[in-house]
Amino acid sequence: MFGCDADATRQELRPAYVERTMKKPRPSHDETTDSRDLVGRAVIETRGISKIYEMGEVRVHALRGVDLVMAEGEFLVLLGASGSGKSTLLNIIGGLDVPSLGQVFYRGQELSGANERQLTAYRRAHVGFVFQFYNLIPSLTAQENVALVTDIAGSRAMDPREALDLVGLGERTGHFPAQLSGGEQQRVAIARAIAKRPQVLLCDEPTGALDYKTGKLVLDVIAKVNAEMGTTTAVITHNAAIGGMADRVIHLADGQVAKVIHNQCRLTPADLSW
Ligand code: ADP
Ligand code: MG
Repeated sequence: MFGCDADATRQELRPAYVERTMKKPRPSHDETTDSRDLVGRAVIETRGISKIYEMGEVRVHALRGVDLVMAEGEFLVLLGASGSGKSTLLNIIGGLDVPSLGQVFYRGQELSGANERQLTAYRRAHVGFVFQFYNLIPSLTAQENVALVTDIAGSRAMDPREALDLVGLGERTGHFPAQLSGGEQQRVAIARAIAKRPQVLLCDEPTGALDYKTGKLVLDVIAKVNAEMGTTTAVITHNAAIGGMADRVIHLADGQVAKVIHNQCRLTPADLSW
């Protein structure tokens, strides 16, 4: 892969976290399916999940039998056209929704069949979400927005300032959302998502509302969280170039996994172009 060589020439410019990421042994190229060896390291596993939305007379098959493993510390990109089922899959993995058929496991514990209270407990303890629109509370500062989560997360949570430092906003803790750019607001949303030290970070089109340069900055922060905190991460996009950052790229089409690509080396957001 020429990307690896191109990367080597840029070695000195790479931040420390990228160095560590690049040294991890990578699985070899495999376009077929999830290798079974990933299951042993599975944080999330879905088995044959389908989702059917009933809209009066109309039945929409959003997912049709998806088998997916997210291995410990892995960075996945879920790629697919609009309507291919990406958000439905992410919401089921994150316990925001349940499949119509099939099973979902978090560290071997079945989530499918869990009741609302159990799903809430799962999300609260283990899952950080980042959405396209940042959903910050306008009347609260950056630090207060993050503190909303850390206050209920208990002793394992970071200090809100530490989380804001990690996303490069240590100097903006007292700013209100309206005083921040779109990219900065998204970084506050990432700080809020990771401050409770979730096991899984799920990002649905996190750069969808951002310009090119700002989008890359946000992707950089997500890659940093994955590398430094070891958070198992999935990023949804319809931008194929972003797939270069991932350990594996899961292509969804019409509610099914159409293809899985293992990247032998991961590119930094700076090395991506679209
Ligand atoms: P993507 O995120 O890839 O754009 P979605 O998972 O949002 O795709 O949607 C997959 C399909 O399911 C689409 O046809 C969409 O219209 C449908 N869908 C998603 N959510 C709902 C819902 N709550 N009710 C009915 N249909 C839905
Ligand atoms: Mg979507």
